Amino acid sequence: MSTDDADGPLSGTIASSQTLKLAALPTDSLLHTSVEKRFERITRIATKLLKVPIAAITVFHHDKEWFQSLHGWDVSYLPMQDGFGQIAAAEKGLTIVPDTTADKRTQGHPLVVGPPYFRFFAGVPLYERHGEIVGTLSVMDTQPKTADEIDAESIVDLSALAQSEILSDQLDSAQAALSSKLGAARREALVDPLTRVWNRRGGNLAMKSAFAEADAAGHHCSVCLIDVDKFKTINDTYGHDVGDIVLRKIAEALVRNIRENDIVCRLGGDEFLLILTEADGEIAGRAIERTRASLEESPLRTRNGDVFLTVSAGYAVRTPNSNRSSEELILAADQALIASKAAGRNRILAAS
Ligand code: GH3
Ligand code: MG
Repeated sequence: MSTDDADGPLSGTIASSQTLKLAALPTDSLLHTSVEKRFERITRIATKLLKVPIAAITVFHHDKEWFQSLHGWDVSYLPMQDGFGQIAAAEKGLTIVPDTTADKRTQGHPLVVGPPYFRFFAGVPLYERHGEIVGTLSVMDTQPKTADEIDAESIVDLSALAQSEILSDQLDSAQAALSSKLGAARREALVDPLTRVWNRRGGNLAMKSAFAEADAAGHHCSVCLIDVDKFKTINDTYGHDVGDIVLRKIAEALVRNIRENDIVCRLGGDEFLLILTEADGEIAGRAIERTRASLEESPLRTRNGDVFLTVSAGYAVRTPNSNRSSEELILAADQALIASKAAGRNRILAAS
């Protein structure tokens, strides 16, 4: 079935929204630009998530390694032989050096034997669209690390985000997908292809970093589950294609009604997860209610008539440095969601 809305705002991807910050696309050219905001966010999150003092995204240019974004250290560039970039580039994939003084590749390196006396290094090369290495994402510490302290998966995930920024900078995403299977595969591993918001894995990663940031800043956050009401009936009445457009419309409404640092994720089916940063119960309640009301007030127009949409939601508040795991918070939000459904749908409820 065709829809009037199908070619409207819904035809654009939500990936360009601020809310998908980590996977979204920059427009500035890569080199010789002011420090890129999205790179900065990736390096800031890297330091918090990986519990390291220093994180960098570098770009190789001629015989220098330029620091496009750097957290915890102050340097603009290093001659190639004086940085760690070449070590990561030589390995082609993830390089981890738990103790730089015990590894042949880094023993005697200027950054190890001289200031800042790095003892831990991990880096991943970043590729341009033809497969040439153009820089690195790297994290460093002045203390060595044990294997247990190193979250290799998150390093790779964060490098995939930096990678997608670089590819997107050069190409539109369709071309990027064709020309870099690696970059596209990693990007797809974190983003829901239908709605262009985070998928479950991307949401988990973004949630971990949001909690780490909230703890550092002493902020509350709220975890909210949103589920479309009677979505099966919409699919059955109007067809699966219209159902898909409904899901995109809902993702778009979620993105539009929240703040820049908040996170939208499609957990699967017709269920979405929102992480509202710097949001206690009152702020979260208002934001979710705004979204619920905006959906109720704007049916999807189709040639076969208007599709009225409502959603139900449940949310739980996380206090700073809370011991409650993300799973516990999601479970509490889910119980509130179930209660919203039971109470007649089209409403939001806080977890008790
Ligand atoms: P409730 O109000 O209790 O949530 O009722 P519901 O009909 O929405 O029930 P439920 O949430 O269990 O239904 C989810 C439906 O979503 C079932 C499945 O067919 C449909 N669905 C899952 N993924 C997709 C998708 O990608 N596209 C479309 N169009 N439908 C999907
Ligand atoms: Mg549903």
